[in-house]
Amino acid sequence: MFYLELKNATVQYNGTPVLNDLSLQIAEGEKIALVGQSGAGKSTLLNLLYQQSEDDAALVPQDLGLVRSLSVFHNVYMGRLNKHPTWYNIVNLIKPLKKEVDQILPILGQLGLEEKVFEPARELSGGQQQRTAVARAIFKDSSTFFGDEPVSAVDEHQSHTVMEAIAISHRTVVLSMHDVELALKYSSRVIGLKEGELALDEPADRLKAADLDDLYKS
Ligand code: ADP
Repeated sequence: MFYLELKNATVQYNGTPVLNDLSLQIAEGEKIALVGQSGAGKSTLLNLLYQQSEDDAALVPQDLGLVRSLSVFHNVYMGRLNKHPTWYNIVNLIKPLKKEVDQILPILGQLGLEEKVFEPARELSGGQQQRTAVARAIFKDSSTFFGDEPVSAVDEHQSHTVMEAIAISHRTVVLSMHDVELALKYSSRVIGLKEGELALDEPADRLKAADLDDLYKS
């Protein structure tokens, strides 16, 4: 019994196939990196897998889905919005509750965002916004994490910290990645797409960065 399974999945946009007859099985506990050229279909596949996941998986979408006028604290709190009654959420919106701040601060600390806790998301850099979206996902406390290039704007040093935080906080992880070295280091299995087809599917420890070169040749 697989946790996520696609059978002959085909996705088309305006008659153009984006994913072509793709079959894939993912077991609980796997750490998957989806790699391939821009336009290969990674986001489409990630979203398809996310829709398949039965539990309440955490998602960092490409556009992050932050509320720009709200603080980092409030954006992260949204990860658990549906775990509380509306009155509680409204009270916490008006005046952050100490109990919630105390739970969110350590996650922000882990991601180097502690000092930004009450800054509005719109005032953050691109990398800080990505880290806020990752913090929201970690706060959600679900066992599965989906991320669409979640560290693409984070600087190199911090990208390792963020990838590690994602990996240790979730049992199953599916990420689309543009950085091949990071993908190999933090995943257990690498799935390569080329023009909407499965072009590579290997355990990460059997791969070197050069083994992925073919995916990026047109
Ligand atoms: P990747 O994540 O690998 O860059 P995507 O899954 O985003 O690839 O896109 C695969 C292809 O599908 C691209 O050619 C892209 O232009 C097209 N595509 C993606 N989303 C849409 C959409 N909503 N409408 C039309 N075409 C789309």
